[in-house]
Amino acid sequence: MHERVSSLRQQFQADFTKIAQSKDVEEIKVKYLGKKGPIQQLMQDLRNVSAEDRPLMGKLINELKEEITHLCEKGLEGLSQAEEAQKLQEEKIDVTFPGRTHFLGKKHPVYLLMDEVLSIFKGMGFSVHYGPDIDSDYYNYEGLNFPKNHPARDMQDTFYLTPDMLLRSHTSNTQLRIMEAHKPPLRVVMPGTVYRNEDISARSHVFFHQVEGMYIDKHVTFADLFATMHEFWSKLFKTDVVTRFRPSYFPFVEPGLEVDIKCTSCQGSGCRLCKHTGWLEVVGAGMIHPEVLKNGGIDPEVYSGFAWGFGIERLALLLYGITDIRAFTQNDLKLLQQF
Ligand SMILES: [Zn+2]
Repeated sequence: MHERVSSLRQQFQADFTKIAQSKDVEEIKVKYLGKKGPIQQLMQDLRNVSAEDRPLMGKLINELKEEITHLCEKGLEGLSQAEEAQKLQEEKIDVTFPGRTHFLGKKHPVYLLMDEVLSIFKGMGFSVHYGPDIDSDYYNYEGLNFPKNHPARDMQDTFYLTPDMLLRSHTSNTQLRIMEAHKPPLRVVMPGTVYRNEDISARSHVFFHQVEGMYIDKHVTFADLFATMHEFWSKLFKTDVVTRFRPSYFPFVEPGLEVDIKCTSCQGSGCRLCKHTGWLEVVGAGMIHPEVLKNGGIDPEVYSGFAWGFGIERLALLLYGITDIRAFTQNDLKLLQQF
């Protein structure tokens, strides 16, 4: 029995030197002191020891048990402290370290400009209406005085979905819908996306945005159109712009015209922005054709009106000094982050 106690002590000491972590100590403690461990076994075997040797043997076993308990507790204490210190070291927070950057999304430059345009028109008493992107030939063309096979249709290459349904080629498709639904006076702007079956280049794209506007009431004249255009473009360019009106042709207006403003960059002396003409072409406009008013259920003998429309991307090129319209659909962060 004496020998068994000695060899158990040696075995324990050998195990104890291999300890590396606090969980090893827990394991060793269970191994030696647990209910099925060797110390417990020795205690049970005391029964077979003669009565005179039993007290001495009992004492030896108890000493070993206390020794193991003591060493385990000390070992556990030392290792736990070391582990805690290491954990603190690893989880140390460096308060001087730069924080994580969270990239916030923001509005696309085209929509920033769209918002600004709409906000100016709202300030001038116009309300905003939205029309469908997919529409019938009637609302996009025929009702707006573009008869079938009319050459003016070739001005806008169209994506047809069926012989009668198409992706709208201009936001003008919303005009008749508003005339049908509301009585004059009408002061509305109609923003939206439009589609053209064109080759994509630096100056044109298959997908872009327009803002259409119209004003219908009794006694609306060219003078109202001029004043409205002057007011809007002055507000947008934040300066008192000089406007110029040139005759032009759009089937849904009569007469039709193009509005130019004197180049805000060179004041008309000629520069790269205005291609050395001194003028910036900004919008097509005109007095609404009597046939279009009739199609919208409005009597052209009583009412008159004007309409205009321009592309937001073209305007953005002008305002932001960007030379390629494709930049707006390429999602290049270097460009987008500048806005
Ligand atoms: Zn210029």
